[in-house]
Amino acid sequence: MKVIAVLNQKGGSGKTTIATHLARALQLDGADVLLVDSDPQGSARDWAAVREDQPLTVVGIDRPTIDRDVKNVARKVDFVVIDGAPQAADLAVSAIKAADFVLIPVQPSPYDIWATADLVELVKQRIEVTDGKLQAAFVVSRAIKGTRIGGEVADALAGYALPILDARITQRVSYPGTAAAGTTVLESEPDGDAAAEVRALAAEIKQKLN
Ligand code: ADP
Ligand code: MG
Repeated sequence: MKVIAVLNQKGGSGKTTIATHLARALQLDGADVLLVDSDPQGSARDWAAVREDQPLTVVGIDRPTIDRDVKNVARKVDFVVIDGAPQAADLAVSAIKAADFVLIPVQPSPYDIWATADLVELVKQRIEVTDGKLQAAFVVSRAIKGTRIGGEVADALAGYALPILDARITQRVSYPGTAAAGTTVLESEPDGDAAAEVRALAAEIKQKLN
């Protein structure tokens, strides 16, 4: 079992969008996947509930016992994806403890990158404690299509010495559009660019976890 925690204390960075899509992409690729909603607001649970024949199992664990609970709940699955909560440092610490891979979605703006400093510090401490067993990376989220990520964004990210994934998630109306139906772009337009970028993200993380 591998645990991927999608974390960023900032709301609106795309955690729930990425966590739901990543979980579904891994599942469509043949894995057994559990999605853990650690946000007390329950966005991922709301998302899942809209769809009657929801193929993804979503459980809420919004207490700082995620590391213990995930071990108990998820022994039988291939992947656990944790949708992170905004604020709540204790939940973040517990999700980091549970994780094999911390994925930090950031919008391509220096302000959003600077706002991850505390999280990055927690992640780095955990990487040290685990002797590098924990992996972590940024993924650019809600990138504007057709624009390059500017040098100032790359510089701000590079300052943290965590890698930036090659895969990135673009700002597209299809993401909130499919959320309303409890589905993903993988179902609504499996041959489209959005589905391709989601699959690329899943593949890159899987490869790093191998
Ligand atoms: P978080 O979980 O970090 O708060 P969400 O995934 O809920 O972030 O995204 C916040 C808002 O932005 C939601 O309304 C969501 O639909 C929208 N959003 C997130 N990612 C994208 C994207 N790639 N393209 C378009 N809208 C997005
Ligand atoms: Mg969310």
